[in-house]
Amino acid sequence: MKVFFHQDFYRVYTSDPAAAAGRMESVVSALEGEADFLEPAPASREEILAAHTPAHVRQVETMGLYGIAALAAGGAVAAARAGMEAPAFAAIRPPGHHASADSAWGFCFFNNMAVALLSLKNQGLIQTAHVLDFDLHFGDGNVNILKPLGWVSIHNPDAADRAGYLDQVEQELSVAEADVFAVSAGFDNHMDDWGGTLATEDYQEMGRMAAAAAKKRGAGCFGVLEGGYNHAMLGQNALAFVKGMQEGWEG
Ligand SMILES: [Zn+2]
Repeated sequence: MKVFFHQDFYRVYTSDPAAAAGRMESVVSALEGEADFLEPAPASREEILAAHTPAHVRQVETMGLYGIAALAAGGAVAAARAGMEAPAFAAIRPPGHHASADSAWGFCFFNNMAVALLSLKNQGLIQTAHVLDFDLHFGDGNVNILKPLGWVSIHNPDAADRAGYLDQVEQELSVAEADVFAVSAGFDNHMDDWGGTLATEDYQEMGRMAAAAAKKRGAGCFGVLEGGYNHAMLGQNALAFVKGMQEGWEG
């Protein structure tokens, strides 16, 4: 599977937990040998401005974070494009699902998922999209930017137990119709992370379900990294998700 990653993502660009030293090393060391690593280009200003206001882009520039945030968005764009052929993953940071058009919080700056889906849409590669956001936290930025467009359905599962959580995901994926199945893949709801709920194998199962749903409908499939803060588990969880996508695609 194609995994989009850039050495610059190792850089500790802020003092928040998403930017912590060692976090991306956890992901890369787990995926190494299991995936084809490709280096993305930054998202273009035009692609970013499809999701964000000029004032917000200027704000991120003022913070000195435009470069790394545009590169993360570019990783999502690259994974989305590759995902139209076969499942792909963007191992990127800063994360994006708390970034709205004109504001951002929660360690996010640009909304990587929104930039990626709008890029696919504006290039005529998709008409509709479904987003599964299994991060611990509600992806308010994804919802604020994408939901009003009318061609994106978004699912933030909220069950408090593993079985119920997987049931919700399965239920939603069984009825979702879309040209691309995208996953805001945050791993902070793992039993050894902040949320304390899901097991590593659950990420594999969700990857499998998302890719199988895509395959069944002749759609694309990709995931982008959001949260996940226990460095001892993050890589294994990302690997489980990537393996699941592969399995679901191959049937
Ligand atoms: Zn989160």
